[in-house]
Amino acid sequence: MTFSELKLTRQFLNAIEDAGYSVPSPIQIKAIPPLRSGQDVIGIAQTGTGKTAAFLLPMLQTLKYAQHHEPRALVLAPTKELAIQIHNEAIKFASYTDLRILALYGGIGPKTQIEQLNQGCDLIICTPGRFIELYSHGHISTKRIKHLVLDEADRMMDMGFMPQLRQVQEIIPNKRQNMLFSATFPPRVERLADEFLLWPTRIEVTPQSTPVATVRQMKLELPNQRTKIAFIEWWIEHHLQDKRLLIFARKKEEAENLARYLQRSFDFEIRTIHSNKAQNSRINAMEDFRSGLVQVLVSTDVASRGIDVPETEMVINASVPRDPHEYVHRIGRTGRAFRNGTALTLNDPAERYALERIESLVGEPLEEITAPESLEDFETPRHERQIQAREIDRELRKRDPNYKGAFHEKKKKKSSKGKSVRSTGKTRK
Ligand code: AMP
Repeated sequence: MTFSELKLTRQFLNAIEDAGYSVPSPIQIKAIPPLRSGQDVIGIAQTGTGKTAAFLLPMLQTLKYAQHHEPRALVLAPTKELAIQIHNEAIKFASYTDLRILALYGGIGPKTQIEQLNQGCDLIICTPGRFIELYSHGHISTKRIKHLVLDEADRMMDMGFMPQLRQVQEIIPNKRQNMLFSATFPPRVERLADEFLLWPTRIEVTPQSTPVATVRQMKLELPNQRTKIAFIEWWIEHHLQDKRLLIFARKKEEAENLARYLQRSFDFEIRTIHSNKAQNSRINAMEDFRSGLVQVLVSTDVASRGIDVPETEMVINASVPRDPHEYVHRIGRTGRAFRNGTALTLNDPAERYALERIESLVGEPLEEITAPESLEDFETPRHERQIQAREIDRELRKRDPNYKGAFHEKKKKKSSKGKSVRSTGKTRK
């Protein structure tokens, strides 16, 4: 199958050629024909499958050329980073047209965005909050909107955007084409689809929540945070070379600490990206990671959605995400664009349970690796031991409501787990 068989016009075929795409991806093959014929479509696809081009190409082809002052199509995305990424793709595909495409998002003052809107546009790519804000101040007219895309719908629901999405539904014309893309399809996304779409064609490119097949997934159990950092240092020293490494932490503080520790050992810059960072610094970090100026980026889940750097060869999870779907999103940052990637998850004894949930979602155990001989085993500090014990306790109580979690029991469990960590974690004589 070729792009021209998908009945895309010359302008877009040229842009696709410039982008270096040789053949359409499965989601593009399945989604472009129904979208071109004006149908509503639900696409269950992770990032990395080519879903952005799947919805942008037929939409841009329908919009054709600059017309009217008001936007005719709206793409809603959960984060600024994703909005920017979709905007970049749209600009790329529309380069042989005069279509006017805007990205609108929060975190910066609306002045420039209002000025851009005043000059007229055909497509806007927007975060839900900023869209409602600009609309309610009279800066966006919705009367000509004929195409609506909800991208990463599961993430929008996770981030609590339902009220804004309902508002959008109320203010845009009823007669329109709808597209919903989501990596996962839990019941609340299904309800959202019911509210927004009419007789949609459902397209699924991978079984629900199955990570991209091109990612090698590994795990390594280490006793504590300090040892995890030592391992990451070792990995960077021995394996980074010219690769790009994306490290995930669960919380902002953890991301900052990790970056600070690592920075002490290396003379190249290690950048962090999380929700406390100013908009500009997040965008710069991403751009520099993309260009290769920054090779190691530490991110939290919130910031992870918009990271689109197909050259990311390695993802290290410095801690295990508690929501297994988040794992799928995280590792979707590597192995993108039909390249091979590696994802390594570092877990402490308390994170075993969360890891088990991930393995059952993914459908198979992650490949277990051993730590290098030279890795120093740091003592688990008392405070961290307590946090781990509490989490183990919580997990055991979840499994067995009668479990009392008596202190001596906890202690026994902890020390036995500690031992098994060392024996599975390393191959020492
Ligand atoms: P997405 O799933 O939309 O986030 O796309 C992931 C990456 O794949 C992006 O960097 C796209 O530019 C790239 N991509 C999309 N479609 C193709 C294709 N047909 N051939 C090669 N790369 C593609």
